Amino acid sequence: MTPEEFRRQGHAVIDWIADYWESLDELPVLSRVAPGEVRRALPAAAPEHPEPFDSLLADVDAIVVPGLTHWQHPRFFAYFPANSSPAAILGDLLSSGIGAQGMIWATGPAVTEVEQVVVDWLARAMGLPEQFLHAAPGRGGGVIHDTASTATFTALVAAISAATGGRSPEQGLGSHRWTVYGSTQAHSSLVKAAMMAGLGSDCVRGIQVDPRTQAMDVRALERQLADDVDDGFQPLFVQAAVGTTSTGAVDDVEEIAMAVDGLAWLHVDAAWAGVAAVCPEHRDRLMRGVHLARSFVTNPHKWLLTTFDCSVLWVRDSALLTGALSITPEYLRNAATESGEVVDYRDWHPQLGRRFRALKLWAVLRTYGLEGLRAHIRDGVALAAYVEELVASDDRFELVTDRSLSLVVFRLRAGDDATLAAMEALNASGVAYLSHTRVEGRAAMRLAVGSWRTTRADVDRTWAALQEAAEGVLGG
Ligand SMILES: *Cc1c(COP(=O)(O)O)cnc(C)c1O
Repeated sequence: MTPEEFRRQGHAVIDWIADYWESLDELPVLSRVAPGEVRRALPAAAPEHPEPFDSLLADVDAIVVPGLTHWQHPRFFAYFPANSSPAAILGDLLSSGIGAQGMIWATGPAVTEVEQVVVDWLARAMGLPEQFLHAAPGRGGGVIHDTASTATFTALVAAISAATGGRSPEQGLGSHRWTVYGSTQAHSSLVKAAMMAGLGSDCVRGIQVDPRTQAMDVRALERQLADDVDDGFQPLFVQAAVGTTSTGAVDDVEEIAMAVDGLAWLHVDAAWAGVAAVCPEHRDRLMRGVHLARSFVTNPHKWLLTTFDCSVLWVRDSALLTGALSITPEYLRNAATESGEVVDYRDWHPQLGRRFRALKLWAVLRTYGLEGLRAHIRDGVALAAYVEELVASDDRFELVTDRSLSLVVFRLRAGDDATLAAMEALNASGVAYLSHTRVEGRAAMRLAVGSWRTTRADVDRTWAALQEAAEGVLGG
């Protein structure tokens, strides 16, 4: 592809994206392809001869789009949003164009330093305590990971290293009987992290939650910690959830920190909800006690308009990360690293290589401004509050838990089968897409608002379609 051809096709791709966005409203949210359909439509081998780029775009239209569930659709309410935005896409495109590999400071000083500044900006915007900032005295700072799962895994690995006084890189896990804690509502990435770290899933204690709030029962955590210590286990890692995936429940980080009392590494998983702290009205609830945690993760790639992937992990003491993850082969030795004046981000996550992800977050923070981001979060919260009203106004439905920010969890009073059947009928209609969960053993639907495209009219249309689906299920 010549530079001229690149310009022409580049414009065509941007046009394609803008057209795709305009067409979203008309498309069924959930893909309707059968398993294997997309694969069968594609040749088994790469073309021997070069093909024009236009033919790829044609196949995207003909084969890929029908095989997509449209995450950017205004009526995508399933899971949590993976919100893309024009600013983030352009920032990401710049990153691709620059094509830098920022594994260490020396391989692209700006890749590292823009990231340090941008994660500090976000930390300040959310009211994260000063100790987590690169700019503050001390060894705090943030780093962009691909996902919260990786961030949590990394924090766990650092906790292992810290618990052994930094000896684990050479000596492995040894004979420690470590235990890991989270509520029964903790994200599955906690158990997965324990499995990947070689601790095994059995070491993870699922602490019961308050049946009403779904937040961790801190007294139960205290009892479990005491029992484990009595039984010769070593509490290693406690995860507090600020905004659980199932219902958006917020654990009391401050109380949990008191219960842990320095016995273990305290990690806060605020993957979805954390970014809402850019709004002062949510900050107290989301940030209370966070100064007592050693690490905190939130995903700008969920609600904060930053095209996947972008998850930020902050730590109060980066020496505990680098102590666990640093290894310097000869070919990476350089004067800047040895001076101790720079951050080498390869020591802050599992992999070596890294993209210039900070560009898209920088683009988002500058293009929307904190004012714009607050407005976006508030829109989502207001629309979810409207959904909550709609649920309350139809006595066939009931709320399962209190609305958490922009997440509403509800069901049909008629029971699990009716709830799931109505949701599936809505999803099959193509009008909207909701996902389900189980709360205290009973099925519920989740409606998570978060796209910048979603309007009140989208909520109305979804609600009308859900009411129709409920009528079908309940027999008129
Ligand atoms: C989404 C989510 C995760 C996992 O996020 P990834 O970035 O996809 O790994 C973890 N914890 C919570 C609370 C989440 O909502």
